[in-house]
Amino acid sequence: MKEPKDGAIGTGGDHKEIPDFLSKPEIIKNHALLQEIGVFKQIEELNADIQRYKDLLSGGLDIFNRTTIDDIMDATVWQISDHFLPSFISFLWKPIQNRDEITIKSYQNYKMVDLGLKVHSIKAFEKFFQQYPRPINFDLFSFELENDEAITPFENIKPEIVIPILGPFGLYGIILVGRKTRAAEYSPGELVFIQQLMAFVSQGIKNHLHYEHSLRDVKTGLFNHGFFLNRLNEEVARTRRGNDSSSMLVMDVDKFKNFNDNYGHLAGDKVLETLAFTIKQGVRTEDVPSRFGGEEFTVLLPNSDRKGAWFVAERLRTDVAAMKVPWDPPLPQVTISLGICTFDKSSNVAAEEIIHRADEALYLSKERGRNRCTQWEE
Ligand code: GH3
Ligand code: MG
Ligand code: MG
Repeated sequence: MKEPKDGAIGTGGDHKEIPDFLSKPEIIKNHALLQEIGVFKQIEELNADIQRYKDLLSGGLDIFNRTTIDDIMDATVWQISDHFLPSFISFLWKPIQNRDEITIKSYQNYKMVDLGLKVHSIKAFEKFFQQYPRPINFDLFSFELENDEAITPFENIKPEIVIPILGPFGLYGIILVGRKTRAAEYSPGELVFIQQLMAFVSQGIKNHLHYEHSLRDVKTGLFNHGFFLNRLNEEVARTRRGNDSSSMLVMDVDKFKNFNDNYGHLAGDKVLETLAFTIKQGVRTEDVPSRFGGEEFTVLLPNSDRKGAWFVAERLRTDVAAMKVPWDPPLPQVTISLGICTFDKSSNVAAEEIIHRADEALYLSKERGRNRCTQWEE
């Protein structure tokens, strides 16, 4: 069993397992009797139990101290492999309150692999696990579920155990453990170990999903206002120390009030959702696309100068002007106006001023006829 990482909370000091009474004369005198009634054996078993719980606790704390879901998965796979080797372990989860985006990561022989598992929904699992919130044998689970469609994607990989990740928002994901590679069956002790370790793992993954959820806007899944402000402040501070420039974009849907009035608020919401998706697709992973509020969005573009930011802004504008919103009956095209503010160490202003400038540029885009970009100028 690995020790917790430096700085991690440990499981406390080493206690002596057995008090030093075994060498006392009375014990030696009655050794045969004690042996016969099983006292020594029991002490041995209790000690083994204590050791097992210590290992479990330090393993669990190791998992809690991990800072990403990938790290948690690595730690889990290593800890399980200390005991036995499952044919595979797969982790499936989705962002909180987002029904569409299931992430699947599988491990075989300590390495991340693609098992070809394609799962689009874990809704059927949710109903089941809300009634029976604990790990279960997969065959038994398939039998109880009575929903072939939900089981089909897993037929090729043949999981042995399925473990739910449950929380206040429902089912966040599932963990699948394959059959044992060497022996035919897991022993009862091994099953208990999997169950206990996975209680920590699912708690750890859940913590991370909650954290990520706290940074996001519920309707669009983009980052929220608070997270954007934090990142902008960091970026302003970073450019002050370096020699490169960064930019922010602010965009606002054109005549959106009319749109809502004409087609309804629900259609309007669908537009915002699709718009958010378009924005996310149109920026790099290091950029910070955010919902600033209402129908206003911002993107922080680290390491982007005026030319680079203009290029991104124009691309977003044209992408939105061509975007299709899935709605029946079809909706008219929406457009956005954008404001761009680029900053570097010579700008020497606070984040609030950067936002203000981007807003001024956006205002000019609106004034000049909408569906266009404007770069803030001195
Ligand atoms: P323009 O920006 O081009 O000047 O016109 P506008 O009509 O878009 O301007 P305004 O900012 O006054 O209106 C914003 C509208 O956005 C008002 C509100 O009904 C709508 N809106 C804001 N948030 C949401 C939302 O979450 N869902 C929907 N459907 N509409 C929203
Ligand atoms: Mg607005
Ligand atoms: Mg608007």
